Amino acid sequence: MDLEQSATPLIISGPCSIESENQIMATARALAKIPEVKMLRGGIWKPRTRPDAFEGRGEEGLVWLREAKKETGLPTATEVATPEHVELALKYEVDALWIGARTVVNPFSVQQLADALKGVDVPVFIKNPVSPDLNLWLGAFERFQKAGVKQLAAIHRGFSYYKESPYRNFPMWEIPIELTQRLYVPLITDVSHICGNRELLLPTAQKALDLATDGLMIECHINPDEALTDARQQITPEELKQLLSNLTFRAKNSGSVEHDLANLRGEIDDIDAELLQLLARRMEVSAQIGEYKKRNNVTVVQMDRWKKILADHIATGNDLGLSPQLINEVFEAIHQASIERQSRIMESNSNQL
Ligand code: PEP
Ligand code: MN
Repeated sequence: MDLEQSATPLIISGPCSIESENQIMATARALAKIPEVKMLRGGIWKPRTRPDAFEGRGEEGLVWLREAKKETGLPTATEVATPEHVELALKYEVDALWIGARTVVNPFSVQQLADALKGVDVPVFIKNPVSPDLNLWLGAFERFQKAGVKQLAAIHRGFSYYKESPYRNFPMWEIPIELTQRLYVPLITDVSHICGNRELLLPTAQKALDLATDGLMIECHINPDEALTDARQQITPEELKQLLSNLTFRAKNSGSVEHDLANLRGEIDDIDAELLQLLARRMEVSAQIGEYKKRNNVTVVQMDRWKKILADHIATGNDLGLSPQLINEVFEAIHQASIERQSRIMESNSNQL
């Protein structure tokens, strides 16, 4: 499984929960007719908020899932939360396992799962924890890596958020982006659990593709309105087909795009090199001013001059189409560094006295 190398994103689809033989077989058959769909998902054990809700079919569901795979040829994936789940899923030849958002928050559970998967060569997808805690997510990866699990991918399913939002789970795109920059693992975006409704699926999937996701997980049910779990966010296979045809798949590695990008990136690199040279020169002049201030007993911070400089820069920046916020932040940082440099000069000179 080489998600990052594949030209098109991996599309994983299937019901939130496997409810009956009929339901999973009919859904799988319809999904198998959509060429983009490459993997069949189905929840066997469902982590439910309240105790009396439907908690999944358990082992008999695995029998049907294996049947669906045999008939359609689609590899399968399910959620595991305990070592017993791992054992049963492997017994029924599930091809990939995912660790759910509620499990990833608990390092004890994650460790037990990592131990259960020691020496087993099966792809493991790790969902983000429900809370926006990058370290917890990273920690889960480290536990599986230490256990020797090689085929790891991240699933972004959004985060619990205290503010009102149109999403069921707030995307906070910066967190999965940061994760993939630190770990270089493929990223799958579970748009169904981010959105929590059907209406937002298309724009959210497009946004994920624009940000270069490696895959999409989208829940699909042969009769979504009757689904025993997550009815509001599931769509029919026909609707999935429609949704996929409305998405723009952007090239990640296509030749000409790469070439244009390489040119632009080269330009950015040159500009950055110039900026660095200029910054170094500015610091050098600032140091000379520091020496002068010391000799003439002038304070380091000259507030009036600084306020004037900043106002002038903001006005010039405005003419150049640069936001006042950017100018403010950049020059505040530069000014701060200058003050520190000059203060050090004052200190070192006084030490010599
Ligand atoms: C699911 O994929 O059906 C599920 C329960 O997801 P999550 O762990 O992201 O809530
Ligand atoms: Mn679900």
